[in-house]
Amino acid sequence: MESRLNKREIKGGFNARIYNRFIDIQEDNPAIEYYLAKAHQYPLIDPQASCIFCQIANQERKADIIASFKHCFVIKDQFPVSNGHLLIIPHEHTLSWFTASEKVRLDIMQALSLMKARLDEEYKPDGYNIGANCGEFAGQTVMHLHVHLIPRYEGDMENPKGGVRGVIPEKQKY
Ligand code: 5GP
Ligand code: ZN
Repeated sequence: MESRLNKREIKGGFNARIYNRFIDIQEDNPAIEYYLAKAHQYPLIDPQASCIFCQIANQERKADIIASFKHCFVIKDQFPVSNGHLLIIPHEHTLSWFTASEKVRLDIMQALSLMKARLDEEYKPDGYNIGANCGEFAGQTVMHLHVHLIPRYEGDMENPKGGVRGVIPEKQKY
């Protein structure tokens, strides 16, 4: 086993069907600068470098941050489900609600209450849905935790019964 690992370190090998080659490069190698300038094109090297919410958190990507808390910040969803749809996002990259630390989750919960009060004033909605898609098969598209706070309005759909059960549309009504 050890000799196989040593060989792989020198010659490379397959990992999850991807061929990896391990090489040492010097700090001043121009390839490093090239990679850092285009890191988003190489998500397999560093997933966070291609994460749009990390880019927003680091101010590398333009976004209107409407509130900031100790461990999270708030933006309007670019494709809102309803008027006022917000995303609450931890500053630090983590995949989902279940990988986030307790302190981050508590901060998000406080942010939810504060942002709900703000939305009440500004939009006067009739209800809310709160939700996080955890994992590709639960519909997550941006792999950095974000909690949706979605104001709901009387009449915004014909029969709202079942709410978040609508993640599987034919199971919404019961
Ligand atoms: P998910 O399906 O991962 O829970 O949802 C990702 C959400 O992020 C979607 O509701 C989408 O509209 C929103 N979104 C994706 N890219 C951007 C962006 O660049 N800016 C903002 N403000 N929202 C985004
Ligand atoms: Zn991220």
